[in-house]
Amino acid sequence: MFLIKTLIFVALISTALAGPWGIMCAGEKKNAIRDCDSYGCGKFGAPRGERKHTGVDVKCADGSVVYAPFNGMIVREAKPYKNDNAINDGVEITGEGYCIKIFYVKPLKYKGLIKKGQKLGVLLPMQQVYPRITSHIHIQNCDLSNPTSYL
Ligand code: ZN
Repeated sequence: MFLIKTLIFVALISTALAGPWGIMCAGEKKNAIRDCDSYGCGKFGAPRGERKHTGVDVKCADGSVVYAPFNGMIVREAKPYKNDNAINDGVEITGEGYCIKIFYVKPLKYKGLIKKGQKLGVLLPMQQVYPRITSHIHIQNCDLSNPTSYL
C-alpha cells in the first residue's frame, strides 16, 4: 500500500511539474530539455559564444514527428539562420496567449490553424549539420522571455 501511495504521489508531482503545453516530439514521454553536449546546453540563457541561448531546446530525434504544443495559428515561416542549411526552417505560432518560434522543423504548412497535439511537421536532419549533437527542437518566445515553465 505504501508503494502504491508513493507511486501515485510521484505521478502527481511529475504532472504538477509539467507545464501546460502538450508533448512536442513523438516518442518522448515529456518535453525534456537537451542536456549539455559539445555544442552547448539546451536550457534558457545557456552560453552561445558571446551571446546567450534565447530559447529552450527540447530533445527530439531527427525525422521525428513534431506536434503543436497548444491550440493556435501558424502565422509565418521562421528560420533560425541567415545562411541556409539543411535545418534552416521553422514556424511562428500564436494562440492561448502564447507566441513562439519553433526551429529545425519542416512544417506541413506555413499558415493556418493548428490544434494542440496535431502534427506540425518533422524534425530536420540536425546530425548532418551538427554531428553527435543531442537533436532537438528550439522553442523561443516571440518576446524572448523564458518559456521553460510552459514545457
Ligand atoms: Zn536552441
